[in-house]
Amino acid sequence: MEDVIAIDGPAGAGKSTVARLLAARLSYARLDTGAMYRGVAYLALKRGVDFQNPAALAALAAAVRIEVAFRGAEMELRMDGEILNDQIRAPEVSERVKAVAACEGVRTVLVPAQRRLGAGHRVVCEGRDIGTVVFPDARKKFYLTASLEERARRRASELRGRGVDQPLDDVRASIRERDAMDAARRMGPLVVAPDAVVIDSTGVPIEQVVETLHRLC
Ligand code: C5P
Repeated sequence: MEDVIAIDGPAGAGKSTVARLLAARLSYARLDTGAMYRGVAYLALKRGVDFQNPAALAALAAAVRIEVAFRGAEMELRMDGEILNDQIRAPEVSERVKAVAACEGVRTVLVPAQRRLGAGHRVVCEGRDIGTVVFPDARKKFYLTASLEERARRRASELRGRGVDQPLDDVRASIRERDAMDAARRMGPLVVAPDAVVIDSTGVPIEQVVETLHRLC
């Protein structure tokens, strides 16, 4: 029986940082489901799969071998043997992942895979549909958000930290578009689960956000 803490919310809300710090405090594993959608987008780009063709994206997701190793609060994701790190955070992957996340055939493959990966673990699981679809029985559900401006600034500075200089206007536009598509899709849309605690982290230092979540767990 798994013990899941779900953290959902829009792009750039700080889910990964908060999930990592919370998992470390609780000695839980961390499952980053966004990385899996990004991994499929990355492989699709690399293999020249047509992003307009949902059947081709679904076939790729179904064929790919997905492995996750939990190392403390870090998760090592491999797809078809390739370790996926910074390459799945590149702006072209962020740009293309929308089509992957909107593809029902992909979600039909990744959601059960996420449930399998979480099985038997104590896990902080982050994404968009964790508390609503993937783990509706999660012990604790959080919806982490922040203003668009702050999320764009955080994402731009995170990218700079990895040597990617993307103008703030572009980052903001990309986040806005991704959020709109995440909220609008039919399967696993970004919505607040009725039993989720909503945390707005605008102007709140990340350590304080983690403290709040920890207290509520
Ligand atoms: O969280 P992150 O920004 O890395 O996620 C990348 C993309 O994957 C999101 O923009 C979203 O479209 C998609 N995603 C999703 N469902 C999840 C996690 C991520 O659709 N559970």
